[in-house]
Amino acid sequence: MLTPNMNYGNLKDSYLFYNIAQKTKKYLEDNPDKRLYRMGIGDVSLPLCDAVIKALHEGVDDQSKKDTFHGYMPECGAPFLRETIAEYYKKRGVELSSEEVFVSSGASDELGDILDLFDKSSSALVIEPAYPAYVDANTIAGRNIIHLSSGRENGFLPLPDDNSVADLIYICSPNNPTGAVFNKEQLKKWVDFANKHNSVILFDAAYEAFIEDDTLPHSIFEIDGARNCAIEICSLSKTAGFTGTRLGYTVIPKTLIRNGMNFNAMWVRNRTTKTNGVSYIIQKGGAAVFTDEGQKQIKANIAIYKNNAKVLMKALDEIGLWYCGGKNAPYIWLKCPDNMGSWEFFDYILKEIQVVGTPGEGFGSCGEGYFRFSTFGSPEDTEEAARRLVKLLKK
Ligand code: PLP
Repeated sequence: MLTPNMNYGNLKDSYLFYNIAQKTKKYLEDNPDKRLYRMGIGDVSLPLCDAVIKALHEGVDDQSKKDTFHGYMPECGAPFLRETIAEYYKKRGVELSSEEVFVSSGASDELGDILDLFDKSSSALVIEPAYPAYVDANTIAGRNIIHLSSGRENGFLPLPDDNSVADLIYICSPNNPTGAVFNKEQLKKWVDFANKHNSVILFDAAYEAFIEDDTLPHSIFEIDGARNCAIEICSLSKTAGFTGTRLGYTVIPKTLIRNGMNFNAMWVRNRTTKTNGVSYIIQKGGAAVFTDEGQKQIKANIAIYKNNAKVLMKALDEIGLWYCGGKNAPYIWLKCPDNMGSWEFFDYILKEIQVVGTPGEGFGSCGEGYFRFSTFGSPEDTEEAARRLVKLLKK
Protein backbone atom coordinates (compact mmCIF):
# COMPACT_ATOMS: atom_id res chain seq x y z
CA MET A 1 0.00 0.00 0.00
CA LEU A 2 1.24 3.49 -0.82
CA THR A 3 2.44 5.50 2.18
CA PRO A 4 2.12 9.27 1.83
CA ASN A 5 4.84 11.49 3.27
CA MET A 6 3.44 11.46 6.80
CA ASN A 7 5.67 14.41 7.75
CA TYR A 8 3.00 16.69 6.27
CA GLY A 9 0.99 15.81 9.36
CA ASN A 10 3.70 17.44 11.50
CA LEU A 11 3.37 20.86 9.83
CA LYS A 12 1.90 23.52 12.05
CA ASP A 13 -1.09 25.26 10.46
CA SER A 14 0.18 28.23 8.55
CA TYR A 15 -2.33 30.45 10.23
CA LEU A 16 -0.35 33.73 10.22
CA PHE A 17 -1.33 35.30 6.90
CA TYR A 18 -4.63 33.39 6.81
CA ASN A 19 -5.57 34.80 10.20
CA ILE A 20 -4.59 38.32 9.16
CA ALA A 21 -6.71 38.01 5.99
CA GLN A 22 -9.69 36.69 8.00
CA LYS A 23 -9.47 39.43 10.62
CA THR A 24 -9.11 42.27 8.11
CA LYS A 25 -11.94 40.85 5.97
CA LYS A 26 -14.26 40.68 8.97
CA TYR A 27 -13.28 44.20 10.05
CA LEU A 28 -14.14 45.61 6.61
CA GLU A 29 -17.45 43.72 6.53
CA ASP A 30 -18.36 45.19 9.92
CA ASN A 31 -17.04 48.67 8.98
CA PRO A 32 -17.73 49.16 5.28
CA ASP A 33 -16.98 52.91 5.48
CA LYS A 34 -13.37 52.35 6.62
CA ARG A 35 -10.21 51.76 4.56
CA LEU A 36 -7.10 49.95 5.72
CA TYR A 37 -3.43 51.03 5.77
CA ARG A 38 -1.59 47.81 5.01
CA MET A 39 1.89 47.79 6.53
CA GLY A 40 2.03 44.01 6.69
CA ILE A 41 2.67 43.11 3.09
CA GLY A 42 5.85 41.30 2.10
CA ASP A 43 5.23 41.97 -1.59
CA VAL A 44 6.56 44.93 -3.53
CA SER A 45 4.23 47.67 -4.74
CA LEU A 46 6.40 49.35 -7.43
CA PRO A 47 6.52 47.98 -11.00
CA LEU A 48 9.59 46.59 -12.77
CA CYS A 49 12.06 49.30 -13.82
CA ASP A 50 12.34 50.50 -17.43
CA ALA A 51 15.65 48.76 -18.15
CA VAL A 52 14.08 45.40 -17.22
CA ILE A 53 10.89 46.05 -19.19
CA LYS A 54 12.93 46.97 -22.28
CA ALA A 55 15.02 43.78 -21.98
CA LEU A 56 11.88 41.66 -21.49
CA HIS A 57 10.41 43.12 -24.69
CA GLU A 58 13.65 42.40 -26.53
CA GLY A 59 13.53 38.85 -25.19
CA VAL A 60 10.01 38.40 -26.57
CA ASP A 61 11.14 39.75 -29.96
CA ASP A 62 14.13 37.39 -29.95
CA GLN A 63 11.73 34.49 -29.54
CA SER A 64 9.83 35.60 -32.68
CA LYS A 65 12.78 35.21 -35.08
CA LYS A 66 14.42 32.03 -36.26
CA ASP A 67 17.95 33.42 -35.76
CA THR A 68 17.48 34.60 -32.19
CA PHE A 69 14.94 32.04 -30.96
CA HIS A 70 15.87 30.05 -27.82
CA GLY A 71 14.43 26.64 -27.01
CA TYR A 72 15.40 24.86 -23.80
CA MET A 73 17.79 26.94 -21.76
CA PRO A 74 20.81 25.44 -19.95
CA GLU A 75 19.47 23.90 -16.73
CA CYS A 76 21.88 25.78 -14.43
CA GLY A 77 21.24 29.15 -16.08
CA ALA A 78 22.12 31.06 -19.24
CA PRO A 79 25.89 31.65 -19.37
CA PHE A 80 25.28 35.39 -20.00
CA LEU A 81 23.37 35.70 -16.72
CA ARG A 82 25.70 33.45 -14.70
CA GLU A 83 28.64 35.59 -15.85
CA THR A 84 26.80 38.84 -15.14
CA ILE A 85 26.03 37.73 -11.58
CA ALA A 86 29.63 36.57 -11.00
CA GLU A 87 30.73 40.08 -12.12
CA TYR A 88 28.24 41.63 -9.67
CA TYR A 89 29.97 39.73 -6.84
CA LYS A 90 33.40 40.72 -8.15
CA LYS A 91 32.50 44.40 -7.76
CA ARG A 92 32.11 43.69 -4.04
CA GLY A 93 35.44 41.85 -3.88
CA VAL A 94 34.02 38.31 -4.05
CA GLU A 95 35.70 36.16 -6.71
CA LEU A 96 33.36 33.51 -8.10
CA SER A 97 33.44 31.37 -11.19
CA SER A 98 30.26 31.71 -13.25
CA GLU A 99 29.90 27.93 -12.79
CA GLU A 100 29.40 28.57 -9.08
CA VAL A 101 26.29 30.66 -9.84
CA PHE A 102 23.01 28.83 -10.53
CA VAL A 103 20.03 30.71 -11.92
CA SER A 104 16.72 29.84 -10.22
CA SER A 105 13.06 30.74 -10.33
CA GLY A 106 13.33 32.42 -6.95
CA ALA A 107 14.54 31.87 -3.42
CA SER A 108 11.47 29.97 -2.21
CA ASP A 109 11.93 27.27 -4.82
CA GLU A 110 15.61 26.96 -3.96
CA LEU A 111 15.09 26.91 -0.20
CA GLY A 112 12.96 23.82 -0.67
CA ASP A 113 14.87 22.13 -3.51
CA ILE A 114 18.35 22.59 -2.02
CA LEU A 115 17.48 20.14 0.76
CA ASP A 116 17.93 17.36 -1.83
CA LEU A 117 21.66 17.81 -1.24
CA PHE A 118 21.51 16.63 2.36
CA ASP A 119 20.67 13.32 3.95
CA LYS A 120 17.35 13.07 5.76
CA SER A 121 19.19 12.38 9.00
CA SER A 122 20.87 15.79 8.95
CA SER A 123 19.60 18.29 11.50
CA ALA A 124 18.74 21.93 10.81
CA LEU A 125 19.32 24.94 13.04
CA VAL A 126 16.81 27.75 12.57
CA ILE A 127 17.44 31.12 14.21
CA GLU A 128 14.07 32.45 15.34
CA PRO A 129 12.07 34.59 14.73
CA ALA A 130 12.37 33.18 11.20
CA TYR A 131 10.92 33.19 7.73
CA PRO A 132 8.45 30.27 8.11
CA ALA A 133 9.65 28.30 5.04
CA TYR A 134 12.86 27.16 6.79
CA VAL A 135 10.97 25.20 9.44
CA ASP A 136 8.25 23.97 7.08
CA ALA A 137 10.62 22.70 4.35
CA ASN A 138 12.60 20.73 6.92
CA THR A 139 9.47 19.42 8.59
CA ILE A 140 8.26 18.09 5.23
CA ALA A 141 11.65 16.41 4.79
CA GLY A 142 11.34 14.86 8.25
CA ARG A 143 14.44 16.54 9.65
CA ASN A 144 15.23 17.24 13.26
CA ILE A 145 14.96 21.02 13.76
CA ILE A 146 16.88 22.89 16.43
CA HIS A 147 15.23 26.21 17.22
CA LEU A 148 17.65 28.92 18.35
CA SER A 149 15.74 31.80 19.92
CA SER A 150 16.97 35.34 19.61
CA GLY A 151 15.81 38.45 21.40
CA ARG A 152 16.27 42.08 22.20
CA GLU A 153 19.26 41.28 24.47
CA ASN A 154 21.35 40.25 21.43
CA GLY A 155 19.65 42.60 18.95
CA PHE A 156 18.04 39.51 17.35
CA LEU A 157 21.54 38.52 16.13
CA PRO A 158 22.49 35.46 18.19
CA LEU A 159 25.99 34.01 18.02
CA PRO A 160 26.76 30.30 17.69
CA ASP A 161 26.81 28.16 20.74
CA ASP A 162 28.40 24.72 21.09
CA ASN A 163 25.15 23.49 22.70
CA SER A 164 23.28 24.14 19.42
CA VAL A 165 25.25 22.20 16.84
CA ALA A 166 23.44 21.18 13.65
CA ASP A 167 24.32 19.94 10.17
CA LEU A 168 22.50 22.78 8.41
CA ILE A 169 22.43 26.34 9.69
CA TYR A 170 19.96 28.89 8.33
CA ILE A 171 21.10 32.50 8.42
CA CYS A 172 18.95 35.25 6.93
CA SER A 173 20.70 38.63 6.85
CA PRO A 174 19.24 41.24 6.43
CA ASN A 175 16.61 39.35 8.34
CA ASN A 176 12.96 38.79 7.68
CA PRO A 177 11.16 39.55 9.99
CA THR A 178 13.51 41.49 12.31
CA GLY A 179 15.43 43.61 9.78
CA ALA A 180 18.60 42.90 11.81
CA VAL A 181 21.87 42.45 9.88
CA PHE A 182 24.93 40.48 10.97
CA ASN A 183 28.23 42.37 10.77
CA LYS A 184 31.42 40.76 9.45
CA GLU A 185 32.77 39.79 12.90
CA GLN A 186 29.50 38.10 13.85
CA LEU A 187 29.24 36.25 10.54
CA LYS A 188 32.88 35.15 10.87
CA LYS A 189 31.92 33.46 14.17
CA TRP A 190 29.16 31.53 12.36
CA VAL A 191 31.53 30.58 9.52
CA ASP A 192 34.20 29.34 11.96
CA PHE A 193 31.54 27.43 13.90
CA ALA A 194 30.23 25.78 10.72
CA ASN A 195 33.74 24.80 9.61
CA LYS A 196 34.56 23.47 13.09
CA HIS A 197 31.45 21.26 13.16
CA ASN A 198 31.38 20.34 9.46
CA SER A 199 28.02 22.11 9.12
CA VAL A 200 26.75 23.86 6.00
CA ILE A 201 25.30 27.38 6.26
CA LEU A 202 22.32 28.16 4.05
CA PHE A 203 22.65 31.93 3.77
CA ASP A 204 19.48 33.70 2.65
CA ALA A 205 20.52 37.01 1.08
CA ALA A 206 17.11 37.94 -0.35
CA TYR A 207 17.39 41.46 1.14
CA GLU A 208 21.08 42.22 0.48
CA ALA A 209 20.23 45.15 -1.81
CA PHE A 210 18.72 47.03 1.15
CA ILE A 211 22.04 47.30 2.99
CA GLU A 212 23.23 50.91 3.03
CA ASP A 213 25.92 50.69 5.71
CA ASP A 214 29.15 49.99 3.77
CA THR A 215 30.70 47.98 6.57
CA LEU A 216 27.96 45.32 6.56
CA PRO A 217 28.38 42.19 4.41
CA HIS A 218 25.99 41.65 1.49
CA SER A 219 27.24 38.11 0.94
CA ILE A 220 28.54 35.39 3.24
CA PHE A 221 31.37 34.95 0.74
CA GLU A 222 32.83 38.25 1.95
CA ILE A 223 33.85 36.24 5.01
CA ASP A 224 37.06 34.16 5.05
CA GLY A 225 36.36 30.46 5.22
CA ALA A 226 32.79 30.68 3.82
CA ARG A 227 33.75 29.00 0.55
CA ASN A 228 34.22 25.81 2.58
CA CYS A 229 30.94 25.89 4.46
CA ALA A 230 28.23 28.00 2.79
CA ILE A 231 25.59 28.12 0.11
CA GLU A 232 24.02 31.50 -0.66
CA ILE A 233 20.44 31.84 -1.86
CA CYS A 234 19.41 35.10 -3.43
CA SER A 235 16.43 36.58 -5.22
CA LEU A 236 15.52 39.48 -7.47
CA SER A 237 12.05 39.61 -5.88
CA LYS A 238 12.63 42.45 -3.46
CA THR A 239 15.83 43.77 -5.07
CA ALA A 240 14.17 44.47 -8.40
CA GLY A 241 10.44 43.80 -8.06
CA PHE A 242 10.52 40.26 -9.53
CA THR A 243 7.99 38.76 -7.08
CA GLY A 244 5.57 38.03 -9.93
CA THR A 245 8.22 37.63 -12.65
CA ARG A 246 10.31 35.05 -10.71
CA LEU A 247 14.08 34.99 -10.83
CA GLY A 248 16.78 34.21 -8.29
CA TYR A 249 20.24 32.74 -8.03
CA THR A 250 22.15 30.41 -5.78
CA VAL A 251 25.90 30.32 -5.22
CA ILE A 252 27.54 26.98 -4.45
CA PRO A 253 31.34 27.16 -4.32
CA LYS A 254 33.26 24.35 -5.96
CA THR A 255 35.26 24.11 -2.74
CA LEU A 256 32.23 23.02 -0.68
CA ILE A 257 32.88 19.35 -0.03
CA ARG A 258 31.71 16.92 2.64
CA ASN A 259 32.46 13.19 2.82
CA GLY A 260 34.20 13.44 -0.55
CA MET A 261 31.01 14.75 -2.18
CA ASN A 262 31.19 18.05 -4.06
CA PHE A 263 27.98 20.06 -3.58
CA ASN A 264 28.48 22.13 -6.73
CA ALA A 265 28.73 18.99 -8.88
CA MET A 266 25.76 17.46 -7.03
CA TRP A 267 23.67 20.56 -7.73
CA VAL A 268 24.55 20.44 -11.44
CA ARG A 269 23.30 16.83 -11.43
CA ASN A 270 20.19 17.85 -9.49
CA ARG A 271 19.31 20.73 -11.81
CA THR A 272 19.92 18.73 -14.98
CA THR A 273 17.56 16.10 -13.59
CA LYS A 274 14.85 18.24 -12.06
CA THR A 275 14.57 21.38 -14.19
CA ASN A 276 14.81 22.51 -17.77
CA GLY A 277 16.05 25.95 -16.84
CA VAL A 278 14.43 29.34 -16.35
CA SER A 279 12.71 31.04 -19.32
CA TYR A 280 15.06 32.87 -21.71
CA ILE A 281 12.87 35.99 -21.63
CA ILE A 282 12.98 36.24 -17.85
CA GLN A 283 16.75 35.67 -17.72
CA LYS A 284 17.20 38.39 -20.33
CA GLY A 285 15.09 40.74 -18.16
CA GLY A 286 17.07 39.67 -15.07
CA ALA A 287 20.42 40.46 -16.68
CA ALA A 288 19.22 44.05 -17.21
CA VAL A 289 19.05 44.48 -13.41
CA PHE A 290 22.84 44.28 -13.27
CA THR A 291 23.56 46.90 -15.97
CA ASP A 292 24.50 50.42 -14.85
CA GLU A 293 21.10 51.68 -15.97
CA GLY A 294 19.28 48.81 -14.22
CA GLN A 295 21.22 49.33 -10.98
CA LYS A 296 20.42 53.05 -11.02
CA GLN A 297 16.72 52.37 -11.57
CA ILE A 298 16.32 49.63 -8.95
CA LYS A 299 18.17 51.80 -6.43
CA ALA A 300 15.65 54.58 -7.11
CA ASN A 301 12.82 52.16 -6.28
CA ILE A 302 14.59 50.88 -3.17
CA ALA A 303 15.05 54.52 -2.09
CA ILE A 304 11.25 54.91 -2.07
CA TYR A 305 10.87 51.90 0.27
CA LYS A 306 13.71 53.24 2.40
CA ASN A 307 11.95 56.53 2.71
CA ASN A 308 8.88 54.64 3.93
CA ALA A 309 11.15 53.06 6.54
CA LYS A 310 12.36 56.51 7.64
CA VAL A 311 8.78 57.72 8.02
CA LEU A 312 7.85 54.74 10.19
CA MET A 313 11.06 54.90 12.25
CA LYS A 314 10.50 58.59 12.93
CA ALA A 315 7.01 57.79 14.18
CA LEU A 316 8.28 55.00 16.45
CA ASP A 317 11.00 57.31 17.81
CA GLU A 318 8.38 59.92 18.57
CA ILE A 319 6.22 57.35 20.36
CA GLY A 320 9.26 55.96 22.16
CA LEU A 321 8.94 52.31 21.15
CA TRP A 322 11.92 49.97 20.88
CA TYR A 323 12.57 48.66 17.37
CA CYS A 324 15.29 47.26 15.15
CA GLY A 325 15.64 46.98 11.36
CA GLY A 326 14.48 49.60 8.88
CA LYS A 327 17.90 51.06 8.14
CA ASN A 328 19.46 48.20 6.19
CA ALA A 329 16.32 46.15 5.59
CA PRO A 330 12.75 46.67 4.39
CA TYR A 331 11.27 45.46 7.70
CA ILE A 332 10.90 47.16 11.06
CA TRP A 333 10.53 44.95 14.12
CA LEU A 334 9.09 46.64 17.16
CA LYS A 335 8.23 45.84 20.75
CA CYS A 336 4.49 46.14 21.27
CA PRO A 337 3.60 48.90 23.74
CA ASP A 338 2.39 48.26 27.29
CA ASN A 339 3.45 44.61 27.18
CA MET A 340 0.71 43.80 24.71
CA GLY A 341 0.85 40.45 22.93
CA SER A 342 1.45 40.43 19.17
CA TRP A 343 -2.14 39.58 18.26
CA GLU A 344 -3.53 41.90 20.92
CA PHE A 345 -1.58 44.78 19.33
CA PHE A 346 -2.71 43.66 15.87
CA ASP A 347 -6.37 43.83 16.93
CA TYR A 348 -5.86 47.13 18.75
CA ILE A 349 -4.36 49.09 15.85
CA LEU A 350 -6.73 47.49 13.33
CA LYS A 351 -9.74 48.59 15.35
CA GLU A 352 -8.48 52.01 16.46
CA ILE A 353 -6.55 53.30 13.45
CA GLN A 354 -7.11 50.76 10.63
CA VAL A 355 -3.37 50.01 10.37
CA VAL A 356 -2.43 46.41 9.56
CA GLY A 357 0.93 44.83 10.40
CA THR A 358 2.23 41.33 11.06
CA PRO A 359 2.21 39.81 14.57
CA GLY A 360 5.72 38.69 15.53
CA GLU A 361 4.48 35.51 17.16
CA GLY A 362 3.83 34.13 13.66
CA PHE A 363 7.60 33.87 13.09
CA GLY A 364 8.31 31.68 16.12
CA SER A 365 7.34 31.77 19.77
CA CYS A 366 10.15 34.21 20.70
CA GLY A 367 8.44 36.73 18.40
CA GLU A 368 5.55 37.02 20.88
CA GLY A 369 5.21 40.62 22.07
CA TYR A 370 6.78 41.96 18.86
CA PHE A 371 5.33 43.21 15.60
CA ARG A 372 6.61 43.61 12.02
CA PHE A 373 5.98 46.56 9.74
CA SER A 374 6.87 46.24 6.09
CA THR A 375 8.05 49.25 4.11
CA PHE A 376 6.87 47.94 0.73
CA GLY A 377 3.57 49.88 0.78
CA SER A 378 2.80 53.16 -0.94
CA PRO A 379 4.42 56.33 0.48
CA GLU A 380 0.97 57.90 0.96
CA ASP A 381 -0.35 54.98 3.02
CA THR A 382 2.88 54.79 5.01
CA GLU A 383 2.69 58.51 5.88
CA GLU A 384 -0.91 58.15 6.98
CA ALA A 385 -0.23 54.98 8.98
CA ALA A 386 2.69 56.72 10.73
CA ARG A 387 0.53 59.76 11.55
CA ARG A 388 -2.20 57.53 13.00
CA LEU A 389 0.29 55.49 15.06
CA VAL A 390 1.72 58.63 16.65
CA LYS A 391 -1.75 60.00 17.39
CA LEU A 392 -2.85 56.75 19.02
CA LEU A 393 0.30 55.72 20.88
CA LYS A 394 2.21 58.86 21.85
CA LYS A 395 1.68 59.43 25.55
N1 PLP B 1 13.67 34.43 1.76
C1 PLP B 1 13.14 35.39 2.52
C2 PLP B 1 13.80 35.73 3.80
C3 PLP B 1 11.96 36.02 2.13
O1 PLP B 1 11.43 36.96 2.92
C4 PLP B 1 11.35 35.67 0.91
C5 PLP B 1 10.10 36.30 0.47
O2 PLP B 1 9.44 37.03 1.14
C6 PLP B 1 11.93 34.67 0.15
C7 PLP B 1 13.10 34.08 0.60
C8 PLP B 1 11.31 34.21 -1.13
O3 PLP B 1 11.71 34.94 -2.19
P1 PLP B 1 11.26 34.59 -3.69
O4 PLP B 1 10.20 35.56 -4.07
O5 PLP B 1 12.51 34.74 -4.50
O6 PLP B 1 10.77 33.18 -3.72
